[in-house]
Amino acid sequence: MSAGTAQQILGEVFGYTAFRGPQQDIIGHLVAGGDALVLMPTGGGKSLCYQVPAIVRQRAGLGVTLVVSPLIALMHDQVGALHEAGVAAAFLNSSQSLEQSQEVQGRLQRGELTLLYVAPERLNTPRMLSLLAGLHERGLLSLFAIDEAHCVSQWGHDFRPEYRGLSLLHEQFAGVPRVALTATADDLTRQDMIERLKLGQARQFVSSFDRPNIRYRIVEKSDPLRQLLRFIESEHAGEAGIVYCQSRKRVEEVAAALQGAGVQALAYHAGLETALRQQRQDRFLREDGLVMVATIAFGMGINKPDVRFVAHLDMPKNIEGYYQETGRAGRDGLPANAWMAYGLQDVVNQRRMIDASEVASEAFKQVMRGKLDALLALAEGTGCRRVSLLAYFGEGSAPCMNCDNCLQPPELWDATEAGRKLLSCIYRVQQASGLSFGAGHLMDILRGKRTEKVLQYGHERLSTFAIGADLSEAQWRSVLRQLIARDMVRVDFEGMNTLSLLAPARALLLGQGQLWVRMATPAAPRSRQRPQRTSVQGLAEASLNAGALERLQRLKAWRAEVAREHNLPAFVIFHDATLRAIAQRNPQHLQALEGISGMGTKKLQAYGADVVRVCTESG
Ligand code: ADP
Ligand code: ZN
Repeated sequence: MSAGTAQQILGEVFGYTAFRGPQQDIIGHLVAGGDALVLMPTGGGKSLCYQVPAIVRQRAGLGVTLVVSPLIALMHDQVGALHEAGVAAAFLNSSQSLEQSQEVQGRLQRGELTLLYVAPERLNTPRMLSLLAGLHERGLLSLFAIDEAHCVSQWGHDFRPEYRGLSLLHEQFAGVPRVALTATADDLTRQDMIERLKLGQARQFVSSFDRPNIRYRIVEKSDPLRQLLRFIESEHAGEAGIVYCQSRKRVEEVAAALQGAGVQALAYHAGLETALRQQRQDRFLREDGLVMVATIAFGMGINKPDVRFVAHLDMPKNIEGYYQETGRAGRDGLPANAWMAYGLQDVVNQRRMIDASEVASEAFKQVMRGKLDALLALAEGTGCRRVSLLAYFGEGSAPCMNCDNCLQPPELWDATEAGRKLLSCIYRVQQASGLSFGAGHLMDILRGKRTEKVLQYGHERLSTFAIGADLSEAQWRSVLRQLIARDMVRVDFEGMNTLSLLAPARALLLGQGQLWVRMATPAAPRSRQRPQRTSVQGLAEASLNAGALERLQRLKAWRAEVAREHNLPAFVIFHDATLRAIAQRNPQHLQALEGISGMGTKKLQAYGADVVRVCTESG
């Protein structure tokens, strides 16, 4: 068959000119009736991998493709997007009335649907299974696509017990090909998934997990709110983004602060009522340029393609979490920023949460500490961030020139002596008073400050008093972070985050080994001017002239209206990238729209004339 047909559908239905990465191989394999396991990063283009085969096979008389998706909230938008492209699609889930669901079942039985989206719990009902059995007998059950397939594994981060029922599909519907898709790279989860879904025989398609359009930056936290605001105002004014915070309270504070500063921000966390959460998620997806301030409760399946930045105001638990969350930026392939501010307090908080857990076993805690250490090493690291991230997932790569360390290699200073001073200060203090103290007090001693507490304990008489007056508090903090990241210093939480020495400190104290620490980021970062945007698809906004920019604004306003009428997110009507290409081309008639990426046949018919009118109207 089939590459030809698939290629035609790609252009005709989706308006795209070429397949991305392994899409073509995957599609060919599924069209030919094979089983597949697809591991592809967020934004890699997984949906097309089953949507194109669904259309090819339906046109060949093979019937409907069933898509299992855990996210009821997003089925509506996905089906809406297929409608816009002229594909017969529907969903069945608990949000529908009885009539609506009967109507869909009727279309299913009459063989009118190309794709049907169902929640896993719905698929497992006797009613649904007997409907499918009927179709199967008539040879009209074409393909099963299991989206977010990692939900079947308890090792993944989104375990859904309902997914377990899917292991029966291949027995009940023998011969119907199955494809499972996920963006979770973790090996343990992957193996578990294959076993649970009985996909041992399936062909595996593993993509690189690199997200080249995302620029990774990790900055030292000094005044986080101000830093965040400066980042948003100077680089992302008016653009959509997500800000992750650790706690509900912090989410509310940060959202209020952003709103106060004139940024359109919404708060989202598990403490809000379901209806309110749903409403805010809808607004984020539907409106342009909103900033969502959220806990990690916000995330899975956020398929908004034009999220331009993901900011972490608090450090996540581990690299898996960090990568998952930052991966929500730039799904459209255009430049996006992953920005994190982190500091000593983050290290302390995360350690505390692990240590304080009463449910976790010691062995489990040890694993969690190891994962946290890997993230600390990334944050403190001086090499390419992307190389470290990909190495963590077992992938080799070369320096990327699209992360802070590549673009502006950090300067290092030799902190070996300072590290020794700090360690011996911790030791002396403990020896003198039999007590441990927190970071602030130790720094006061080192910097020679005669505070009330210093005098109360007679710590001004210690041999380490004032031996570090030459370093700033910020410098001492970064030395301390390094010592914690290297397991030389332990933070205890019973009292007041007190510090004590661990075995690896011995070597440094005995004069072995060295400690190199990143120079603090300059107080007035260069990022005042808009950083140079690497154009990934040759579509950077910077390349638009004034006339085109003005057309783009009008096209966006028009799109917002259409999206509202259809009750769909704007990006489902046209992606930003498509509008930009239109604005640039400045079409004066319908033919001029041909070949624009994202402009399929159905959309050309439905919207072509409007688009030309918007462009030709005088501004
Ligand atoms: P995933 O589910 O892997 O995160 P999606 O399927 O949502 O990714 O695809 C990400 C974006 O890339 C979507 O907006 C989609 O329309 C677009 N896309 C996918 N494949 C192609 C392609 N071959 N050409 C152009 N755009 C594509
Ligand atoms: Zn790099």
